[in-house]
Amino acid sequence: MEGVGAAFWLIFRGNRVLVEGDGRSLTLPLLEDVAALGLTFLRRHYLGYFAGDRPRHCFAAEVDKETEPPEGMSFQGIRRLFGRLPEAQLWLAGRAVQIIDWDRNHIFCGRCGARNEIQGYERSKKCPECGLVTYPRLSPAIIVRVTRRDASGETILLARGPRHRPGMYSVLAGFVEPGETLEDCVRREVKEEVGVDVTDITYFGSQPWPFPDSLMIAFTAVTSQADLTLQKEEIEDAGWFTAANLPDIPPPMSISHTLIMDFVKT
Ligand SMILES: [Zn+2]
Repeated sequence: MEGVGAAFWLIFRGNRVLVEGDGRSLTLPLLEDVAALGLTFLRRHYLGYFAGDRPRHCFAAEVDKETEPPEGMSFQGIRRLFGRLPEAQLWLAGRAVQIIDWDRNHIFCGRCGARNEIQGYERSKKCPECGLVTYPRLSPAIIVRVTRRDASGETILLARGPRHRPGMYSVLAGFVEPGETLEDCVRREVKEEVGVDVTDITYFGSQPWPFPDSLMIAFTAVTSQADLTLQKEEIEDAGWFTAANLPDIPPPMSISHTLIMDFVKT
């Protein structure tokens, strides 16, 4: 029986999170009393009240890199938990790892070197000497589905980069640069990577992507230009595909998959 006070604990050793169970069915530890695990924490943070159908208070903590997992538990890399941890818990782990990472990387002020103090009223740290405020880093990136109508109907632009697994194609993506609007970034990335101009840039949705700290902001756009000029360093191959002849695409749970499946439906 779970008590009223049970909370999810996201306990990290490095960037690996402590999970309970084995094989394909894992869960985050839901604990009445975290002290019962007998672990010593280097840091801990209250995250909030989250995680699916039955929300719980959630905490993030870090243990020393020598720490052994408690009985029946193991430390796992978050990418290896896709499909093995309930989805809401997976995204919670992604949120937590970014908070822990921010905390341990900003112990000292980046400007003057004094020890930062955590601010109580927001997720930030402030240097007591020079006043510099540090927030968890988020790196916004656009992801865009470009389509084009030709004689065979509606086609989608898919490309593969050197980091994609063999045979997999996806939509284009890239990090937002200082001074850019999201629309500027969409136009620049598409032009740089495949050499076409896009119009009708429309917001589609967003997804936090904690590897390590992206926020993916998805758009759709159209072009009338068929000829592609590939940027060699980023793009190994790219082409126009119909819904009926799609190549291998990214797995579910990624917004790239959602963007592509939305094209297939329409
Ligand atoms: Zn300072």
